[in-house]
Amino acid sequence: MSAPIDPAEVLAEFIDTVAPYDPNPGADPVAIVGVRTALGEGVFPMSDHVIRAMCKALASYRDPEDRGLCNGCGGRRLDENLHCQDCGRLHGILGQVIADHARRVAAEDHT
Ligand SMILES: [Zn+2]
Repeated sequence: MSAPIDPAEVLAEFIDTVAPYDPNPGADPVAIVGVRTALGEGVFPMSDHVIRAMCKALASYRDPEDRGLCNGCGGRRLDENLHCQDCGRLHGILGQVIADHARRVAAEDHT
């Protein structure tokens, strides 16, 4: 297991990172966010710039576990073999080969 991360420290670091680019540095905060955990705590005035930076960070975020959507059920839980954990559909080249084979077998059964 990886070392614990202090959420208050992470938030402080995010604010420090984006603050130099605030086009309106003296403006009143739009929110006050309090963070209290076993690792630490802090109270953070959040400027409009910080909130907008969070929105941009979220928009560009891609989870390493994100393997797209299942064509069968629309679920997001595809494992590393592109096998849907919800409906069992197999994606990717192997999934295509298996699906094509299944269709051929089904067609032969009906003739
Ligand atoms: Zn599925």
